[in-house]
Amino acid sequence: MTNSTSNGILHIEGLCAQISGKDVLKGLDLDVQKGSIVAIMGPNGSGKSTLANVLSGKPGYEITAGKIEFNGRDITEMSPTERGQAGLFVASQYPLEIPGVTPIELMSAASPGVPREELIRRVDLVNKELSITDSLMERGVNVDLSGGERKRMEILQLLVLNKAMAILDELDSGLDVDALELLASMVAKASKDSGMTVLAITHYSRLLEVLIPSEVHVLVGGNIVRSGGPELAVELESTGYKEFEKI
Ligand code: ADP
Ligand code: MG
Repeated sequence: MTNSTSNGILHIEGLCAQISGKDVLKGLDLDVQKGSIVAIMGPNGSGKSTLANVLSGKPGYEITAGKIEFNGRDITEMSPTERGQAGLFVASQYPLEIPGVTPIELMSAASPGVPREELIRRVDLVNKELSITDSLMERGVNVDLSGGERKRMEILQLLVLNKAMAILDELDSGLDVDALELLASMVAKASKDSGMTVLAITHYSRLLEVLIPSEVHVLVGGNIVRSGGPELAVELESTGYKEFEKI
């Protein structure tokens, strides 16, 4: 299948990946339609973050088989910077500190050609809702920030950079209920307004009560073992992942 003849934006085929010599993804297939919100759920250790990290091109992960196409291009061998330029934004489960680089400097580097004044204008606009204080904007990205503040910083970058697709790895972790609702609703609005595609990776369904997916896929043991609509997230909230652990 090629994306040029369909409305697909992300096409993953037979993806096998290792970290530190351990096989984590074991032949994963996934197709995501442009502009859609899709959820990946699964128990701890099932390979969710590995998938996000492999999609971002993070060093240390080895793709041993399969391919990843994004917007009709094979990105399997691309660097993280090239993937970003192609329109992919990956918000990490545990955003790292980048001492010595302010958020504006990071966003400038990620969007060549966009004038600094324009970036600052967008930051101010997004920050009306996100309320990240000036002092957090003036220090190195995420330096000494709490888990929740880091998640706000990720969403700030996502909305300012305005990429075609966002992959959110456990956006809910480290957030209280109010912050989760705010961030999830801002992502949902960006998807609706600008057609941004969202792949929301999460253990719990509460994120998906605001960021409502059209499809839910269950990842267990490095493969998608079940797929359904939003009702599947509700079902998993009450049953947990026990039924899949035997697979
Ligand atoms: P999830 O995000 O679904 O909780 P991960 O993708 O983080 O799962 O982890 C999948 C599996 O890979 C787990 O068994 C985990 O212990 C292992 N793993 C993850 N990162 C590393 C690493 N850096 N070195 C070795 N094993 C790892
Ligand atoms: Mg994880």
